[in-house]
Amino acid sequence: MHHDGLAGSNPKWQVILKDGLESQPWPGPLKSIASKLADGTPLSVEDGLALYQHPSLHDVGRLANEVRLARFGRRTFFNANVHVNQTNVCVLACKFCAFRRGPKSKDAYAMSIEAYIEDVGKYAAHVDEVHSVGGLHPDWDVEHYVSMFEGVRANHPSLSIKALTAVEIKHLGQLSNITTKAVLQRLKEAGLTSLPGGGAEILDDDVRANICNGKESSEEYLRIHKEAHEVGLPSNCTMLFGTVETLKQRLEHMVSLRTLQASTLGFQCFVPYPYLPDASRLPEAQLATAAEVVRTIAVSRLMLNNIPHIKAYRMNIGDHVAELALQYGADDIDGTVQKESIMHLAGSTAPLDHDRNKLARLIEDAGGEPVQRNTTYTHFTPYTPVQVPKRTSLPMAS
Ligand code: SF4
Repeated sequence: MHHDGLAGSNPKWQVILKDGLESQPWPGPLKSIASKLADGTPLSVEDGLALYQHPSLHDVGRLANEVRLARFGRRTFFNANVHVNQTNVCVLACKFCAFRRGPKSKDAYAMSIEAYIEDVGKYAAHVDEVHSVGGLHPDWDVEHYVSMFEGVRANHPSLSIKALTAVEIKHLGQLSNITTKAVLQRLKEAGLTSLPGGGAEILDDDVRANICNGKESSEEYLRIHKEAHEVGLPSNCTMLFGTVETLKQRLEHMVSLRTLQASTLGFQCFVPYPYLPDASRLPEAQLATAAEVVRTIAVSRLMLNNIPHIKAYRMNIGDHVAELALQYGADDIDGTVQKESIMHLAGSTAPLDHDRNKLARLIEDAGGEPVQRNTTYTHFTPYTPVQVPKRTSLPMAS
């Protein structure tokens, strides 16, 4: 699979970045970081800690925004997708998960292939991607998903299928008694376009033993994504922060992803999202304030110099924080989600009914230029929202 690793970035972004960074002053502790960024030197975990500890969040955000501007200017990407979660039945019980149910639970569900395709069909005229992740169903093996994806492809050939996280791939391999690479190959042939990247949580096995015991190990997550890239499936990668991890573990997580990316260039987008605590699950989870969310987005942009896109996941962080994130290093915002349940159940209050126009207006309000993209970031269409009435901000420094 050939990747240029740009995914819509300006091919001269490193030169533009160097000029941008060198044309303005940076406060003491950020000076050496700015010069590493200007030279294209990857930041170390210690640099990352300095960014987390720097007293001015705005300076850190400004640095991240320089990188984003060099790569994409003010272009801000979204796609028109729908989330259909095929089942909430799961053989695991991760501590932080509000979605999963045991097979005998009253509100357990598992959509038949026909019901799934019918559901996708309701949205097919309005979206170009279906995004499907779910629980680890005890009886659904790789052939079940082959039929599901072939069904989508036969009935809705214009849709891309972004589906299944690494742990789902691992589970299918175990049920079907084949390697994870063979699972990926088989699903690609059936129509799978890319992997969404969920389930990375924090790539540290001590943290995982606490919050998602039984899920894939850090090494397995990375190996499955590497295999996906090798068979020609691009993927996203994620980070669930604000559970029980340290700042150093967050940064080491980013470095692990960056190291894999250096050999495959198969990651397209990094999606950091905070844990949304509620009364019943993981009471020991730490607080991730809005300031910490945008700082983490900025730090990811700066650490992940070889992953082109950083996503603001508005279903999880809400529209206001997402808007701010777009000025702190994020360049991509989750698409026109019309149906979603995982984040909603975990306590998110973001409205579910944003259509494309509302999303594009949000991007414009944050100073961006909305661009609709396809799943694999190979096709881009500028999108002009209807602003009624057009809103302007009062004159103040941003
Ligand atoms: S996070 Fe995924 S694997 Fe873990 S319990 Fe929830 S659905 Fe199952």
